[in-house]
Amino acid sequence: MPLPPKAVASVGAEPLRESEERFRIATQAGKIGVWDWDILADRILWSESLYTIYGVTPGKTHTIEDFRARVHPDDRDMVRSAIGNALEHDSPSELEYRAVRPDGKIVWLFINAKVIRSDGRPVRMVGSTLDITERKRVEIALRESEQRFVKAFSASPLCLTISSLATGKLLEVNEAFVAVTGYSRDEAIGRTTAELGVWVQPNEREEELTAVEAAGSLRNREYRFRMRNGQEITGLLSAEVIDVAGERCALTVIQDITDRTKYEEALRVADRRKDEFIATLAHELRNPLAPIRNGIELLKRAADDPVRNAEVLAMMDRQLAQMVRLVDDLLDVSRISRGKFELRTEPIELSKAVRNAVESCRPTMDSAGHHFVVSDPDETILVQADLARLSQVIANLLDNAAKYSPRGSTIRLSVESGPGEAVVRVRDNGIGIPTSMLPQVFEMFTRADTSLEKPQSGLGIGLTIVKRLVEMHGGSIEAHSEGEGKGSEFVVRLPRLGSSPAQEDSAFDATPDVTHCRVLVVDDNRDSAESMAMVLGAMGHETRIAYDGRQALASAESFQPDMILLDIGMPVMNGYEACRRIRELPWGRNVMVVAMTGWGHLQDRERSRNAGFDHHLTKPVDVASLQQLLADRTGSGSGAGAPSSA
Ligand code: ADP
Repeated sequence: MPLPPKAVASVGAEPLRESEERFRIATQAGKIGVWDWDILADRILWSESLYTIYGVTPGKTHTIEDFRARVHPDDRDMVRSAIGNALEHDSPSELEYRAVRPDGKIVWLFINAKVIRSDGRPVRMVGSTLDITERKRVEIALRESEQRFVKAFSASPLCLTISSLATGKLLEVNEAFVAVTGYSRDEAIGRTTAELGVWVQPNEREEELTAVEAAGSLRNREYRFRMRNGQEITGLLSAEVIDVAGERCALTVIQDITDRTKYEEALRVADRRKDEFIATLAHELRNPLAPIRNGIELLKRAADDPVRNAEVLAMMDRQLAQMVRLVDDLLDVSRISRGKFELRTEPIELSKAVRNAVESCRPTMDSAGHHFVVSDPDETILVQADLARLSQVIANLLDNAAKYSPRGSTIRLSVESGPGEAVVRVRDNGIGIPTSMLPQVFEMFTRADTSLEKPQSGLGIGLTIVKRLVEMHGGSIEAHSEGEGKGSEFVVRLPRLGSSPAQEDSAFDATPDVTHCRVLVVDDNRDSAESMAMVLGAMGHETRIAYDGRQALASAESFQPDMILLDIGMPVMNGYEACRRIRELPWGRNVMVVAMTGWGHLQDRERSRNAGFDHHLTKPVDVASLQQLLADRTGSGSGAGAPSSA
């Protein structure tokens, strides 16, 4: 590299070469280039390392224009005016700018230059150029990271604070802190959180600080915090020691988990209730099974004692009815919780639903020795309702009243009419409901006494179904009790209709007397098919049995039944297919085909309707419903009110 002539004159050739070599190595290693601009001749001499910095082949001399051309276009004006200033004011100039190498790479350079004058005029400018690309990259990355931190800090939905570990004073808080706590930034900064009063347990603040100091960080500790308006929240706190301008500080993150804690607790309660429910369900399903099994044993051993048989059969019938009720309730609650429950409403007299419920509960009331008082108003109250479901609602409340009252209690059912509404009250003087349980009494799986030993324990779903059914009728239900031992009252309010129903409903008239129809029973479950045929036979009907869809088609052809009771899920040919084929045959168009299945959802009913079924009954089939259908069929019953579901 060429050096100024004065330096060459005072040093010998060998040391000079060595010195030059050392200088060359030092400048290369330090990515420093030196240059000398002869302003008058417009010629710039470069050290070898400067060629490396600019990424060009050594050898070429340069003019100021060559230099400018290497400067990044965005920095050219700035560089031009910096050079102009230096020439004009004779000041040592420092400058940072970007240069573009021939290979397109951008490098950051730092120039330190000095202008040399002769007779006041600038004649030379000498200087050094330092490649600061790496430093710049780190600086930029640092700046960007800081910007990201500042943005994340202020935009975070979590409450963030920075406080001095020495004084405990808050140095910075973010927007979420302001929004959640209610303290403005000005109120918070310069004070400690203890001074703000945000710690419900002030000693926990010390505990937190000590833990952060000792370990350098703290993770997920739950604390209670008090907001400016006095409201308390549960916060999940994590903290980290950081340096801020040389001071040890704590960066603290607090997540408001009040809702989460509430939901977790609700989930825990629901989970516990579910476990209790499953245990109770197993218990409740086994209860009726034991007497049914005993009954079968008794019938096997004492088949020739008609009085005893009648008693045993009545007992088995009662137990079976209890099981059917349990399964029905389970299905109802499952459909209700999935929003798949449909009412078939029409204008009805409320007294009819009351009568149905009273009739179905009378045996329970009598056997419990209760004094059952029913008061019905003289006037006719009309409501838009599903008679079966409304009867179920009232019966359920009466059943509960009977169940949760000691023997010989008084149970009152009253119907009143208010302005635009009908009110049904079921009142008992039984065990009552603890005040703490009243708000949850309609929630699923809620039972006041969860001990399995209690004879009156239930599944805890009856009132859930009742409430939902009442609401689906546009009404409301309330539970009242003054506490344990003080009895309970359930009040159902339903919107009233103004005028009389167009037609008298006859669905719940006495079961008609129909005899001698031909019924083909089709079920792959032999016990189910044969017992159903026996029941129908005992009612005076002629029956045949088929065990799959294909047999059903063959049998029906020769038997010409009035009704085909057809199971759906069967081997060889299922019920849908069998029904479709029956409908294609000349004799099959008018025969009554009834689905008899365990599937009772709305979509199952729709599917069976599409396959050509006239009715859809769920197992176990209620014989009275069958009798009603046969009555409709033969025209010997009341006709219009045949149920299309069971
Ligand atoms: P189940 O009776 O099958 O347990 P319910 O949903 O019908 O379920 O009732 C829920 C709970 O409400 C019962 O377990 C009982 O603790 C309480 N309850 C309902 N009706 C009464 C009543 N008339 N008297 C006292 N407690 C009642």
